[in-house]
Amino acid sequence: MDTTKTNGATPKLAVVEKGKPRTGVPKVGPNRRANPELTALVEKDIVQTDTGVGWDDIAGLDNVKQIFKETLLLPKLMPQLFKGILRPWRGILLFGPPGTGKTLLAKAVASQHGSTFFNVLPSSLTSKHYGESEKLVRALFETARARAPAVIFIDEVDAFCSGSREHEATRRVRCELLSHMDGVGTGSGDKGVLVLAATNHPWDLDEALKRRFEKRIYIPLPDEHTRSQIIGLCLGEIRKDPNVDVATLSKQLIGYSGSDIRDLCQEIILIAAREVIQNAGFTGVNSKPPDGRNNIGAKGDDSKCQVAPLGSDRIVLNRSHFERAKEKCRKSVDGALIRKYKRWNELYGSR
Ligand code: ADP
Repeated sequence: MDTTKTNGATPKLAVVEKGKPRTGVPKVGPNRRANPELTALVEKDIVQTDTGVGWDDIAGLDNVKQIFKETLLLPKLMPQLFKGILRPWRGILLFGPPGTGKTLLAKAVASQHGSTFFNVLPSSLTSKHYGESEKLVRALFETARARAPAVIFIDEVDAFCSGSREHEATRRVRCELLSHMDGVGTGSGDKGVLVLAATNHPWDLDEALKRRFEKRIYIPLPDEHTRSQIIGLCLGEIRKDPNVDVATLSKQLIGYSGSDIRDLCQEIILIAAREVIQNAGFTGVNSKPPDGRNNIGAKGDDSKCQVAPLGSDRIVLNRSHFERAKEKCRKSVDGALIRKYKRWNELYGSR
């Protein structure tokens, strides 16, 4: 999964209200104040100001995009409904094979609804560097509430499940996390915090964690049409020979994930670019082109590796580039695993 980190802005659907003390407050949870240094760490390492991902950057998954749009819009359009029996969801789980767009979706949800995006990897919470991990979780939720609307995206959330070999730090983080997730969604539906999580191993989720995700959405491998769209997104404006048919290529990529297709497209472009460079007579960073002109290779004969750029408009992708790239880039998910996801979806997925 894509784990870029910086600073951020974003959507919502579940609301964290600045906590009124509850009775029987545990030693963990939303009511204890976060340490300012940890809050600064969250701001520095976890908050992402602009994910820059729009709905159109995601191929396919139209039904999922629709679910999110409705989920995020409804509390805004009809807030009165959310004062009664309805309550914004406090947690949504995206599950499915790796590289199918779960992280992209979370980023789009954030950017399309003007929320701050908190990109959390288990390692960023349990790292020894931070010492007191559960306090970091507290700082995370407190910062999210302060910057609401916010999306807290927890990637690889299965890492927080209980297990016999559970590490003490993980156990404490898990308790803190569960407690804060219970606080989410109890507010009025205006400013809010949505907890979005992703996993490639949904069957590892324990009951306590599974229960916190009221909506569990299967993100499958792309179908043929979606594969074509992903190829289009990856190759962008790069010119193609008329003998290249993206739809035919897409038919040959059954079982490829979105990230497999991205890797394949990168390889296609690299193969074509190498060919252009070789045809232009450039053999190494410091070599001079045979015609002595300095349009493609090294500038001069010194060892400073100064290379003049070659225009990418020289590249024209042809069928051979596609076929050679496909020889090198194979699909990464096998059929047995897909059957396991489908089974889990039948048992626990949301309709
Ligand atoms: P996941 O979180 O499911 O493991 P990501 O969202 O990180 O996968 O996707 C990895 C990369 O694969 C993306 O950055 C993108 O290049 C490509 N990709 C995957 N699915 C899609 C999709 N549906 N549309 C466009 N690109 C996709």
